[in-house]
Amino acid sequence: MKNNLEDTLAHFGEVEINVPMAKMTTLHIGGIAHYVVNPADMVSLDGLMRLIHSENIPYKVFGKGSNLLCGDQTFDGIIINLERHFNNRYFQDRMVTAEAGCSIIALAYDAMRQGLSGLEFASGIPGTVGGSVYMNAGAYKSSISEIIDSVLVYRDEKFEWISCDECDFAYRTSIFQRHPDWIVVAAKMELQEGDEEDIRTLMTNRRERRMSSQPLDFPSAGSVFRNPMDIPAWKLIEGIGYRGKRIGDIVVSEKHVNFIVNMGHGTAADYIQLTDEIMQKVKDEYNIDLHMEVEKFNWQ
Ligand SMILES: Cc1cc2nc3c(=O)[nH]c(=O)nc-3n(C[C@H](O)[C@H](O)[C@H](O)COP(=O)(O)OP(=O)(O)OC[C@H]3O[C@@H](n4cnc5c(N)ncnc54)[C@H](O)[C@@H]3O)c2cc1C
Repeated sequence: MKNNLEDTLAHFGEVEINVPMAKMTTLHIGGIAHYVVNPADMVSLDGLMRLIHSENIPYKVFGKGSNLLCGDQTFDGIIINLERHFNNRYFQDRMVTAEAGCSIIALAYDAMRQGLSGLEFASGIPGTVGGSVYMNAGAYKSSISEIIDSVLVYRDEKFEWISCDECDFAYRTSIFQRHPDWIVVAAKMELQEGDEEDIRTLMTNRRERRMSSQPLDFPSAGSVFRNPMDIPAWKLIEGIGYRGKRIGDIVVSEKHVNFIVNMGHGTAADYIQLTDEIMQKVKDEYNIDLHMEVEKFNWQ
């Protein structure tokens, strides 16, 4: 990379140098990222992306890093973070338009206060709107795809709204996973009128359920494996006797076996050794292929 890259990047927003990715992920694992850029607005994002394309610089968009397992080595590229400046949202009748960096939990609470129902499922998902669209995040048999009207995408150096159909949503997948060069800039979601107190009660009950069933007191990236068609992943992990299994500081949670937690100084290498073992044993004992829901980033 050019020596004056830092100065050039500063045209597009605040630049942070040599940031541990462990600080940008809920799992608290990951090596150093050479640059983190917080684009100031859409013009700056466009400028940054044009620079990245012309100089062929590796990059990755991060939300809250709540679904990412970053490798232990240095990332010699740019992390683009939209949380700082892409967090506007507004309500118009039953429609909410939110920029990609908005917290989906904060949005669910905003909707509740407006007496709008549809985002209750998201009230315990610690991600951004952008990450949730990319992942088609969901819970309690609902997912974001059910309320998406359209998504503002940056692709081929242009901003355009695409319809929900074009996002090709399915269980924890979307078209964005097949096009890692596209950036979710904002999403329009259609909600239903509801009763604020009923929505609040549902969200409170679900929060309590999560607190009693998930190891929220330790760093994690949420559910590690996607649920296969006929059997939940936790039953398979339980079945191979891996509840509480530990490698270094990386542990299969006793509280929720499809969560793997970092007890302090866990490494990506240990995490992957543990998940590889689980996948191999599940294959050997049940002939089922488990697939990771947590995404690996910056692996050789
Ligand atoms: C305690 C805990 C509980 C969880 N519970 C749930 C749950 O119930 N249901 C569920 O579905 N998930 C759950 N998750 C996982 C995670 O919170 C979701 O997948 C969330 O939607 C990820 O959002 P993020 O902003 O953190 O994305 P990140 O982890 O930062 O990124 C995930 C992927 O999205 C991409 N991405 C992020 N922003 C953009 C953007 N603007 N444009 C394009 N690509 C983008 C990234 O490049 C990356 O590939 C949980 C995680 C934790 C830690």
